[in-house]
Amino acid sequence: MNFFRKIISYGSVPLLIALVTVVGWRLFSYADYTLRKKPNARSFDMACLRDSNNLVPMVIIGSGPAGLNAALYAGRAQLDPLVIEGDNPGGALMETTYVENWPARSKILGKDIISEAREQAKGAGAKFLRDTVTSVDFSQWPYAIYTQKGITLRALSIVIATGSTPKTLGIPGEKDYWGKGVTTCALCDAPFHKGHTVVVIGGGDSAIEEATQLAAYADKVYILVRKDSMRAARSMQDRLKGYPTISVLFNKEVTAIRGDDKEVTHIDVYDNVTKQSETMQAQGVFLAIGHTPNSALFAHDLVIDEQGYIAVDKITQQTSVPGVFAAGDVQDNVFKQAVVASGDGAKASISAASFLMHQGYSAAFEESLHANMFKFGQEADARKHVVALRSEQDFVEKVKQSQGTVVVDFYADYCPSCLKMLPDVEEIANTFAESVTFYKVDVEEVSSVAEDLHIKSIPALLVFQNGALVGRFNEAMSRQQLNECVLRFVPGASA
Ligand code: NDP
Repeated sequence: MNFFRKIISYGSVPLLIALVTVVGWRLFSYADYTLRKKPNARSFDMACLRDSNNLVPMVIIGSGPAGLNAALYAGRAQLDPLVIEGDNPGGALMETTYVENWPARSKILGKDIISEAREQAKGAGAKFLRDTVTSVDFSQWPYAIYTQKGITLRALSIVIATGSTPKTLGIPGEKDYWGKGVTTCALCDAPFHKGHTVVVIGGGDSAIEEATQLAAYADKVYILVRKDSMRAARSMQDRLKGYPTISVLFNKEVTAIRGDDKEVTHIDVYDNVTKQSETMQAQGVFLAIGHTPNSALFAHDLVIDEQGYIAVDKITQQTSVPGVFAAGDVQDNVFKQAVVASGDGAKASISAASFLMHQGYSAAFEESLHANMFKFGQEADARKHVVALRSEQDFVEKVKQSQGTVVVDFYADYCPSCLKMLPDVEEIANTFAESVTFYKVDVEEVSSVAEDLHIKSIPALLVFQNGALVGRFNEAMSRQQLNECVLRFVPGASA
């Protein structure tokens, strides 16, 4: 009871009993309803926990606002939550500039919301694992979670907060020119478009945000909207009035992206009112066409709706499996706001605490299972840092005149995808320390090197062998993708 009492530090005993009863009733009635849709035999026998190892009372999958707030609540409830950060720590907010509707803050950077929330959750006792879930098995309790680093966790309760991924168009040229002018991150790549004409595709808030970021660099920005109106909030549309170089074109569908092999030069556009097609000059194509929920990992075990969102009870956030909850954009097809995700995270965490209490879990019981619990910290962070090249001469000596395989990560401090990828680059550098040398180059600090190498988008990873450029990767990569891409250049290794 101790942990639950801490959740409602101001609460009275009757209030506590009422809340537990309501949440408990919702949990079991929803599970009963959904389990009939997706049958699954499980028993929640606390005695069986003594036969398991790597036990975690609450695993939170994802580290955006939903995951971090779930971690804060679970930490304060002394549930020793473990956050698995995933491939994109911090999630979508890391790629947003200013947020003006975060409670109690008139204006705050998205990445600052994340770093402050992370510190707060950490201070409350949450642990953070820099790893990615590769599969789950919810057919038996405690639930199995398998990670990329080869760890198997047995979770007594789970909060899924995996967010969503930006959509792409699937048109000719999109893949060929990805990172060569086509991207989803204006914050990262706008500085490469000084004096250019660029297009933003989409009619939502993101399209407006991307366009205003681009207007600081590009000569002309067109927003191409497929309907005759924008979906973006009126207040966001009003922002455009202050930007004379941004024009909105309605009823336009992009059908192909063209270039000269090195970079984008043109796009084909179809007007769905006049039924005419035309070719437009554009050196940058920024996609802002919404997101797909990251639910595929759970499709086998949970009820997912026809659009890919995890089905939850809207009061408790419980999924179709008891003890498994979901919060944030992976289950929200309506609001998709950071503050709503954060609130959902709190609901999911309180519900998970209630679920554990119903199973008879307590701090004393956890103490008695000490030997069976997951020992955090065994995979301690003993990384060596990747050396920065700070001048053109440095680059020539260390890379152009080098023998063997050298990987150079081009990044900038203003680029969130780059900052997210850097720790993974460092980890991979340590993995390949015997056979590959890694460096990083800040494109602002050593801009001449970036220009000579035609870097158009960051992060960019370039591979050199005996001083010659042999590989170029123009996109943000996950740890696993980095590993696979470097492995290709290690003599004698196979990916
Ligand atoms: P949205 O889903 O709101 O908008 C997507 C836009 O892309 C729509 O205009 C949609 O058109 C268009 N679209 C979708 N598919 C295609 C396609 N194949 N071709 C052309 N256009 C297409 O996504 P956002 O990323 O803009 O916003 C997501 C959420 O994040 C929203 O809730 C938003 O409010 C929030 N947000 C808030 C911000 C802020 O407050 N600062 C900043 C950014 C986002 P159609 O309308 O025709 O379907």
